[in-house]
Amino acid sequence: MNKIILLNRRPEGKPTLDDFKFAEEEIPALSEGNVLLKTLYVSVDPYLRGRMADAKSYVPPFELGKPVQSAVVAEVLESNRDSFSKGDFVTGLLDWKEYQVVEGKGLNKVDAHAADLSAYLGILGMTGLTAYFGLTEIGRPKEGETLVVSGAAGAVGSVVGQIGKIFGCKVIGIAGSDEKIEQLQSKFKFDAGINYKTTKDMTKAVADAAPDGVDIYFDNVGGEVSDAVLANINNLGRVPVCGAISSYNDTEVSLGPRLQPIIVKNSVLMQGFIVSNYGAKFPEGIKQLTKWLQEGKLTYTETVVNGFDQIPQAFIDLFDGKNNGKMVVKV
Ligand code: NDP
Repeated sequence: MNKIILLNRRPEGKPTLDDFKFAEEEIPALSEGNVLLKTLYVSVDPYLRGRMADAKSYVPPFELGKPVQSAVVAEVLESNRDSFSKGDFVTGLLDWKEYQVVEGKGLNKVDAHAADLSAYLGILGMTGLTAYFGLTEIGRPKEGETLVVSGAAGAVGSVVGQIGKIFGCKVIGIAGSDEKIEQLQSKFKFDAGINYKTTKDMTKAVADAAPDGVDIYFDNVGGEVSDAVLANINNLGRVPVCGAISSYNDTEVSLGPRLQPIIVKNSVLMQGFIVSNYGAKFPEGIKQLTKWLQEGKLTYTETVVNGFDQIPQAFIDLFDGKNNGKMVVKV
């Protein structure tokens, strides 16, 4: 039988296991013009929370009673399409199913020899590209500038900081544990780190770590952490607004300081973005990230959870910061 995971109900606040339903179906047979895939790795990502709500967004919501989808690395078991052969490894936006038959549209072949397969869900996948394009296109880092990144120990943030170092920035990371801060400095060569969970006065902590002010703030989390960083933004500062995980589970709109005076007074550019805005440039981004990886200028961490049944829990754990780097499930 084929295991599948469906959206059982729309989460209220932080998702729970009851929001998902485990089901079984016959393993599908290959049909004309299609490929049969076996799921190997499943990406769990904070943005999936948005798709679980019945709200208008840049992607349609998941339907109740239907499989949840995310980026997946799969192996082609059988193919009726010329473009794919048995034994190929592919990535694509696929259902949370152990096996599935798909048309092949939107599937990309990946090279299992060039990198670990799971890397195509992280540093050589959506999160690496998010870091690369958000920072280079909106942050536009220059040598000697100060870059602050929140969610710094996560999949996007850890890559943002390292790219900042490649561009010659002073890099300060904000994350939720002392172990994560230690790793930012030892493994990823950040210049400084701040644990937002144990720091009472975040505005002062950012000011202390960035005595020349903040030129670029790569915002992954929103909320009070971002209020504190923006209080330290420099003239002509740039703020790529990548995510706002601190509010994804809010049941009412959270209020903070009004930002307009800060933005006007300092001529700040604050721009939200979705990585797919840069879709036409993805090959260029993958090429650059691969080159930096091969040159040893970039590295990455992953939290690999084992077992198809663990996908919902791994997703929920993102909101408790249980991941270090990219969270993936090995099926
Ligand atoms: P991460 O790997 O960073 O995992 C999520 C992390 O967020 C956790 O490890 C946790 O780390 C932190 N976190 C959880 N709750 C809070 C909170 N209340 N306040 C502050 N931090 C919190 O995820 P990604 O790197 O995949 O994504 C990072 C952000 O980027 C998300 O907001 C995501 O939605 C966004 N994103 C946007 C994209 C785009 O196209 N714009 C594409 C990909 C991601 P800690 O221990 O430090 O709290």
